[in-house]
Amino acid sequence: MPLSLTSSVSTMRGIGEARAAALASLGIYTVEDLIRHYPRGYQRRGDVRTVSKAVDLLRSGGGEMPISLMLTVSAEPSYHVIRRGMSVLRFRAFDETGVCEITYFNQNFLRDTFHTGSEFRFFGRVTLEGRTLKMTSPIWEPVVPERSLPSIVPVYKLASGLSQKVLSTLIRDALTAVLSEITETLPADVMARSSLCTLPFALRNIHMPDDTDSLFRARRRLVFEEYFQFGLMMAAAGKPKTDVPAPKMELPDFSPLLRQLPYTLTGAQTRSIGEIAHDLASGVRMNRILLGDVGSGKTIVAAAAAFIAAKNGFQTAIMAPTEILAAQHARELTPLLQSLGFRVLLLTGSVTAAQKRKLYAEIESGAEIAIGTHALISAGVTFRNLGLVIEDEQHRFGVAQRAALAEKGETAHMLTMSATPIPRSLSLVAYGGLAVSRLDEMPPGRQKIDTFVVNETYRARLNGFIRKEVEAGHQVYIVCPAVEENPEAKKKASDDPEELTDLLLTEEAESTDRPPLKAAVEYAGHLSDTVFSDLTVGFVHGRMKSAEKDRIMRAFCEGEISILVSTTVIEVGVNVPNATLMIVENAERFGLAQLHQLRGRVGRGSAKSYCVLVSDAKGETAKRRLGVLRRSNDGFEIAEEDLALRGPGEFVGTGGAVHQHGKTMLPIPAESGDYDLLSEAMAEARLLLDRDPALSQAENAPLRDAVFKMRESLTNTLN
Ligand code: ADP
Ligand code: MG
Repeated sequence: MPLSLTSSVSTMRGIGEARAAALASLGIYTVEDLIRHYPRGYQRRGDVRTVSKAVDLLRSGGGEMPISLMLTVSAEPSYHVIRRGMSVLRFRAFDETGVCEITYFNQNFLRDTFHTGSEFRFFGRVTLEGRTLKMTSPIWEPVVPERSLPSIVPVYKLASGLSQKVLSTLIRDALTAVLSEITETLPADVMARSSLCTLPFALRNIHMPDDTDSLFRARRRLVFEEYFQFGLMMAAAGKPKTDVPAPKMELPDFSPLLRQLPYTLTGAQTRSIGEIAHDLASGVRMNRILLGDVGSGKTIVAAAAAFIAAKNGFQTAIMAPTEILAAQHARELTPLLQSLGFRVLLLTGSVTAAQKRKLYAEIESGAEIAIGTHALISAGVTFRNLGLVIEDEQHRFGVAQRAALAEKGETAHMLTMSATPIPRSLSLVAYGGLAVSRLDEMPPGRQKIDTFVVNETYRARLNGFIRKEVEAGHQVYIVCPAVEENPEAKKKASDDPEELTDLLLTEEAESTDRPPLKAAVEYAGHLSDTVFSDLTVGFVHGRMKSAEKDRIMRAFCEGEISILVSTTVIEVGVNVPNATLMIVENAERFGLAQLHQLRGRVGRGSAKSYCVLVSDAKGETAKRRLGVLRRSNDGFEIAEEDLALRGPGEFVGTGGAVHQHGKTMLPIPAESGDYDLLSEAMAEARLLLDRDPALSQAENAPLRDAVFKMRESLTNTLN
């Protein structure tokens, strides 16, 4: 039976049970999955050097990257067993400029491959010992007169039990078998306007590029396609179904609430509350997002929304992404809402079973405001009459999560709050068809936070600065990146020549500019034992028990701890007005938006506040990125710059919602040029949706299928 796109890979020749299982672990089940398994990089093997050029390269300090040499074996290999389980095969080979010594370990069988006079293309790292050029375990390909060697060779993400050779052969076979069956998914006018190559061309050249130009054209098309479909999917997923009935709430008298506040609302707050009130009164489910930079005062807007619901006899669930934040909301909102006569409770994972039963009972009996993490709506808690769900600090997955929630038949009004500044070009993806309220006005009296970028040579001065702030009665945050990375494992993998790539791997290229991580645990210990042994230093990290975390956070909030060392668990929402100094270690590891949010933890009181970004990164991009933060205090501007500098991968591709899907859908790590492509794709998605909102026209059927599939797998990963 001939292969088709939908055939199971196990029907292919060369795939037995073991390989099928290995492929499945990569998310590959069908022939189509296989040909959509894009390379993660490429080896430019066609770029052949001579021995003398390779020597020059090494002498001038190069040689980090693997290179190709075209060499003729000059004598039969020598073969030695060094010790049990370790053998060495060694021979010399030459070109017209010199000789290279080649070594393989434990590959006895290669004795039958390398013979005097035969020619090979070798690909690997070279070294120089004395005057001898050496290559260890290079990839080899025999030079055969009638067949030209490919100049660009794909490198795939593998699973155990699969080698590059096997996987690329399988993909090539699959592609050859089904290429004629592949039909275009993009509308012709879209392709023409954006000068995109066809899908068959793109698939062939992403796997078997004819040359660099074809590869770039292929990639451009596939990236566009992904953004385009993603845009269509998110627009559809986030689109509030206009006909979902929801509790109709009347506008209450706000003066009791306003009287409790020590300040007057900003114009933006008043306007946003008005927009929310209008939605709640409509009888149709609200699907609104409240956007406001850190410190813009979103909490009181949430309180006003909960006030409306409570006055109308409905319950509100307020959800935060972490227990720390939930606890903080409870601290802020409980006095305010209780003084207005409502019951407010906090439900977190760390309560005892007995407490939990009591809280459940209170919710069932109609307590007006329940604060907690997502467990609030998912853990079988029964509300008496839930009328409003508020989610705070929802990040990238907001829309998809909401879609999942909507599918569960929730009909309560939905309000999401976010401080994550999303560039305008991404708003379709990020917010779908949501109604947007913006807090684009800061409460009065906010001061600018002075921001510095320093390297390790400033350490002593920095410690002096910390001490000065603490002695003035203020508090300090020190944030370190999470300590999960294992640099050893990473290094090992990239030493395998099979895995080496030298083309289009922005991610990998940047990793050479990664100063060692400051390990948060040791660092906290070091600070409290030495430099600041006379001060109180606390430590929180993501894997700590939540009771312990809460205890330390509370101690910091109450001023018992002066210096808080943490991983990014304090990222969002934490409010300690007495904190005046934010230090971020290994700042190059953070996204700019994230750094901006971290900075927003200080400058919340009346005292002058500072942010110090510590980084030893030497790369230009890293420096430019951190420089953006020093210059700007505007989250929106920062997000735009970050997107332009790093490309949209962080937002929608490898680091974003699509990544949740388990597969990297971007063919190759995102590049900054993708920004323009993204804007283009989003604009086209909007245009198409204006014309055919449900993608119901016959010519858009392939697109609708693709979008459906994308949505399906995304929803699956969320449930
Ligand atoms: P975020 O938008 O980051 O959640 P918060 O709601 O935590 O911001 O508000 C930050 C701080 O600003 C809080 O201390 C809050 O009491 C204060 N605040 C909020 N609105 C106003 C206002 N209109 N005038 C003065 N201070 C305000
Ligand atoms: Mg907040």
